[in-house]
Amino acid sequence: MKVFNTLSGKKEEFVPQGDEVKMYVCGVTPYDDAHLGHAMSYIIFDVIRRYLKYCKYNVKYVQNVTDIDDKIIDRANQRGVSTRELAEKFTASYVEDMKSLNIEPPDKNPYATDVIPDMIEVIQGLIDKGYAYPAGGSVYFRVRSVPDYGKLSKRSLDSMRSGTTCEIGEEKEDPMDFVLWKAAKPGEPSWESPWGEGRPGWHIECSTMSLKYLGQTIDIHGGGRDLIFPHHENEIAQSESFTGQKPFAKYWLHNGLVQLGEEKMSKSVGNLITIREALERYSPDALRIFVLSSHYRSPLTYSEEAIEAAKGGVERLLRVVSRDDPIGGEGEAIDAKPYEEQFIKAMDDDFNTPQAIAILFDLTREINRADESGLESSKARDMLRELGGVLGLTFKAPEEAPLDVKLFAEMSKSIIAQLKRDKLEYVLQKVAANPDAENVDGYLNLLRGLRDALRKDKKFQLADDIRNRLSEFGIALEDTPTGTVWKRKR
Ligand SMILES: [Zn+2]
Repeated sequence: MKVFNTLSGKKEEFVPQGDEVKMYVCGVTPYDDAHLGHAMSYIIFDVIRRYLKYCKYNVKYVQNVTDIDDKIIDRANQRGVSTRELAEKFTASYVEDMKSLNIEPPDKNPYATDVIPDMIEVIQGLIDKGYAYPAGGSVYFRVRSVPDYGKLSKRSLDSMRSGTTCEIGEEKEDPMDFVLWKAAKPGEPSWESPWGEGRPGWHIECSTMSLKYLGQTIDIHGGGRDLIFPHHENEIAQSESFTGQKPFAKYWLHNGLVQLGEEKMSKSVGNLITIREALERYSPDALRIFVLSSHYRSPLTYSEEAIEAAKGGVERLLRVVSRDDPIGGEGEAIDAKPYEEQFIKAMDDDFNTPQAIAILFDLTREINRADESGLESSKARDMLRELGGVLGLTFKAPEEAPLDVKLFAEMSKSIIAQLKRDKLEYVLQKVAANPDAENVDGYLNLLRGLRDALRKDKKFQLADDIRNRLSEFGIALEDTPTGTVWKRKR
């Protein structure tokens, strides 16, 4: 198996250092809903982990939660809640998103604030060895003490220097030095330390957690490309200086970023699509196929066309996987082995998922041909299911709405089109049959809108009929200055 290592800038043979593959991926800062950028990165590392397991490696996967950070403090202040409350809320929502996307949970998912004593120990160790220094209640890492600093991002000290500035109040020896421990500011959460009250910097969290849960050297460190500098560069400097062991991580894997059209998808541009929004429209399998249809190191361009194509692909796979074998062994069995070999070859080449997916579709076509001509295809179908599972596909059909609600929707549409009373009666009966079901809400909203439209058209009799009949079913429509709202009567 070959993987592209950012550290060497080339594809290398993958040879783990021990029996277990130790894998660390930088986690989220939970201050807002997770978006497609997170979905992309965590789906990719989920697939890498699943493929390593498929290749019979034992994998230990650690991913942190940065539950204390400037962004969390700012957002908590805006909302008037504690940082803990905010971080817990968005961590819970993130965990749920990952579950919906069929991403396996990490073996260890530590919170930064749970390992503060360990971080203090690492920082103290760096001070003792001369790599760090306290100043004004903070502690900084002395970048010039590390001769190979910049080896991951391939930057020279001079080019980095031009991009740094000294903020007023900072007592750094050199503008490039970065913070390990931040002195407490009034009103911010803080912890005791040998240097006074404060909180850890972001980079030291990952070094400490990786060291604590995976040991001095790990096999794979992953994250988005945007983390190469300064975050991962600083992690290397801290970890290798503290332990005296090189390399801190043998293989550095970085995924490309999601973009919308020509632009990067980001908070600052304001074009984020949250995982929840995406899952309202597409199944987890469709999102996965969309993400994996471009190579993980390339940028992923979000477009309706691309994701619709992925959805269509998933439907083709599903039809084949869920079809009962029509012949069941009467004809000659088709040979799925070559597809498996090609799949492995693609994945062994730096996780070439676009190629791997193409092979799954080839196999799908072969099964279709076999089924049409009466050949035995059940083994090939099992193979398709297994290889799809390596990519994390669930092969679950999207949940279908209950029948009555579907009818309801259809009828509501034709009411709007035709305004026929008999059909209205029919819809109202449907509400009556199931007035408490949550999935009726959308259709009640539709009726409410319909009534508003009727009133505008001066069809007051019909509008009143809607209100009266809904009232009989325990639903009250109230006219307010901003429009009509509906409530369930108690
Ligand atoms: Zn990190």
